[in-house]
Amino acid sequence: MMKPDLNTGIRYLKGVGEKRAELFAKLDIYTVWDLLNFFPRDYEDRRNTLDISDVRAGDKVCINAYITSNIRTRNIRRGFSVTEFRVLDETGGINVVFFNQKYSVDKLSAGKRYVFFGKVEERGGKLTMTNPTFEAEDSSGQKTGAILPVYSLTAGISADILRGAIRNALSEFSEAIPEIIPEDIRRRHKLAHIGYSYREIHFPTGEEELTLAKRRLVFEELFVLSLGLIHLRGRRKDETGTAFSDTDATPYINSLPFEMTGAQLRVTEEISEDLKKSRPMNRIVQGDVGSGKTAVAAAAVYMAYKNGFQSALMVPTEILAEQHFKSLSEELTKLGIKCELLCGSMRASEKKRVRTLCGEGGVDLVIGTHAIISEDVAFKKLGLMVVDEQHRFGVRQRAALAAKGENPHCLVMSATPIPRSLALIMYGDLDISVIDELPPGRLPVDTLIVNDTKRNDAYNFIKKQLDDGYQAYVVCPLIDDDEESELRSVEAFAKELSDTALSGKQVEFLHGKMKQKEKDAVMRRFVSGETHAIVSTTVIEVGVNVPNATVMAIENAERFGLSQLHQLRGRVGRGLAKSYCILFSNVSRWSPAAERLQALRATNDGFKISEEDLKIRGPGDFFGTRQHGLPELKIASFMSDMRSLELAKGEAQALFERDPALCDANHKNLKERIKSMFNPEEKGNAFN
Ligand code: ADP
Ligand code: MG
Repeated sequence: MMKPDLNTGIRYLKGVGEKRAELFAKLDIYTVWDLLNFFPRDYEDRRNTLDISDVRAGDKVCINAYITSNIRTRNIRRGFSVTEFRVLDETGGINVVFFNQKYSVDKLSAGKRYVFFGKVEERGGKLTMTNPTFEAEDSSGQKTGAILPVYSLTAGISADILRGAIRNALSEFSEAIPEIIPEDIRRRHKLAHIGYSYREIHFPTGEEELTLAKRRLVFEELFVLSLGLIHLRGRRKDETGTAFSDTDATPYINSLPFEMTGAQLRVTEEISEDLKKSRPMNRIVQGDVGSGKTAVAAAAVYMAYKNGFQSALMVPTEILAEQHFKSLSEELTKLGIKCELLCGSMRASEKKRVRTLCGEGGVDLVIGTHAIISEDVAFKKLGLMVVDEQHRFGVRQRAALAAKGENPHCLVMSATPIPRSLALIMYGDLDISVIDELPPGRLPVDTLIVNDTKRNDAYNFIKKQLDDGYQAYVVCPLIDDDEESELRSVEAFAKELSDTALSGKQVEFLHGKMKQKEKDAVMRRFVSGETHAIVSTTVIEVGVNVPNATVMAIENAERFGLSQLHQLRGRVGRGLAKSYCILFSNVSRWSPAAERLQALRATNDGFKISEEDLKIRGPGDFFGTRQHGLPELKIASFMSDMRSLELAKGEAQALFERDPALCDANHKNLKERIKSMFNPEEKGNAFN
């Protein structure tokens, strides 16, 4: 017999139809498969049926009782009705009241026996159950007497409708759900059967059953995710690159104008161990803003140079490339390392010169934007690639850079520290190093939360800072995704400030719609001190270093994620002067948003902040875009399913080693699932 097709449109499911299908679409449910994967966000245990004599105010329970009075409905006023009656079981009686439920109350009849589930309160001195869910005693088990799923709903789709649809989907389709986890893995980890898991996750028969089902589905999701990411990166453990024989960076470290922190030394050592191996390094360095990642990367460049290899350093913006070029070439040239800059906006002849040097080996370190990959650059002997501020780059761009050498060592740097569990997935097979120490003597940035009543004081304060010769950033959120309005709001706000609060100061603006060239010109004037204040959207978020800037003012701060605010704050406090982060926000003091801002004020620790942020927003929103190849998770959680994640990842890696392209017929469904989990444009690409 043909198995029913899980991709059947939801409208064809019993009890749905065309009209409701449109409402289901609002929940992103289009097919039966989507519906089955619409997991409960919670459960309500309605198994506990009490004798009425045992019921107490505050209980949420089932009772099994007769309606022993008339069912009286009064219309208090237009559109407001109250229905009251009394019920009795063998132990006692209780009142039941419904507000505005004429329609459902019509189904009740006096003298019959029902199971009621609801909250019991005291009303006028009498125990009363308010707005209970009910069903006839003989059909019990659908709405009462069981553990029931609680779903996120939308207008027009009630809990009952959704539960009914899922029941129907399960009874018609659960046999069609493919088993995608290979049997040996299932056995090893004692994973429940797939059909069982889907039935139990929606309508658990007990707590243990639910735990089993959930464990299986979480494992499956993380397994598919891990395997997909491994495929995307396409790297294998047995890849060989070049082992460097001399990885002593002491001469470089001694040449620095400062002492490396303990954390910097430790990470440098980790890198040097990697570079000695013939398996290419694949390491991410996480470190808070200002923790000194650049020096560590430069140490790696030095090691490559000592072994006769070229290095490439890729950064997301031209400004950053120029800054790195300036500071690094100063340091490294002294040690004999030849550095060049390569950016898209450079003159064609200049680019050509650098390209030629790359090809001939006349340069040891090329610093640039993605021009390094897009301009037709060939390296003579690329041994190390470094990617800075990696969250701005996709996996693919990294792979493209790596392809410029023969399995070069790869170092990735990130200023968005994330919890280890998430890092394991985000960075797949990357090894992780953490710089968890800031250079000594940094003045912490003071963070202030300011509402409109104090706005003018804050502006006066900013003006005073500018008068003293310092500079300021002012950041506005994107009001909506409309780029036109972004442009207008930033431009208008810059004008307003220079007309009023910051009059007499040079104020410029910056936004995402400007051409890279214009943006860079604006930033250059700010770096040189010509501009006093810069109004922008979050385009300045990444890596720029203007030590003279002492104020970061953020409008509608509550609209930003915590990690993003922390990044923005990291733009100041880079010089010797005390710096300030001013969060403009009018949210009420007791709201959750205010709590988040307080959390930011209370700590400067990027790890704590990102953990807090993840708890609030979940990884999908956390990273904003999909360029990381991280799909939305439906059931697993990076915060709480850490153990499963490690197991699933291990199995995924092992399976990848056995059957890299998933050609085995037994892996067909698994392969399909991976393709559908990753976003459409990546569909099909993952394996080709
Ligand atoms: P990030 O980790 O944010 O990329 P950078 O590498 O840009 O940080 O370093 C920030 C600043 O701190 C730079 O000016 C750098 O020269 C300085 N710095 C780095 N390491 C140390 C150190 N160990 N002691 C003092 N200053 C340091
Ligand atoms: Mg940096």
